[in-house]
Amino acid sequence: MRKPMIAGNWKLHKTIGEALDLATVIKKETDTIEDIDIVIAPVFTSLAKVAEQLVGSNIGLSGQNCYPAASGAFTGEVSPALLRDAGCRYCIVGHSERRQLFGESDSFINEKVQALLAAGLGVIFCIGETLEEREDERMYEVLAAQVRDGLRDITAEQMAQVVVAYEPVWAIGTGKTATDQQAEEAHAFVRGLLRGFYTEEVADATRILYGGSVKPDNVDGLMAQMDVDGALVGGASLKAEDFLRIIRFRRSPSLED
Ligand code: PEP
Repeated sequence: MRKPMIAGNWKLHKTIGEALDLATVIKKETDTIEDIDIVIAPVFTSLAKVAEQLVGSNIGLSGQNCYPAASGAFTGEVSPALLRDAGCRYCIVGHSERRQLFGESDSFINEKVQALLAAGLGVIFCIGETLEEREDERMYEVLAAQVRDGLRDITAEQMAQVVVAYEPVWAIGTGKTATDQQAEEAHAFVRGLLRGFYTEEVADATRILYGGSVKPDNVDGLMAQMDVDGALVGGASLKAEDFLRIIRFRRSPSLED
């Protein structure tokens, strides 16, 4: 049984004060939840303060990005070690906004995955096809290349620290969620890739999150799918009420062990 993970990507939103307010409510309302990994990813400037606020909770703090160098002349960048120093346990990499707006390639994303794992951080590794790629029937080819190149040289052992997030680009921030069936098809395919690139054990153990307009009213159906192990949530993670409802998704009886 894979432990579900619900992660909130706050993107470029919230001042330090606002981030603290939201983290405080989430902490208070989730203090008895132990069977779900809850992760929040505020902007860099809020991380250290939010980390202080999260002491004593099970909520994991995540960076939204990093640069794959320990230190040096890289103006404006933040290393995995500095994320750890600020209190992070995870970092998101390969988000489609980074791929599209900042031109990040699979090989650069792979460098980040390697640097994060070397620094002892967990990785939330995002992949996903654009609408054009889906319509051209290139979705599976694209996902396979993203997994193969983004996880190049990552060992089966290291995969225990990697969570994959399938985020169809056409569903991010658009209000257009993949149907439960579309999500399951993609997740089952990605799990098959992991089986091929690694082993049955790695494929069975790796969590695959769905991301793309996850909301309180669609989370239950998505989470009822066999291969959907959690959600990476953007917009709906900015409102405590919505994010808490997503965390409290209704478990499908057929998926309980
Ligand atoms: C995201 O930012 O990863 C995301 C899925 O955003 P949204 O939930 O707003 O679509």
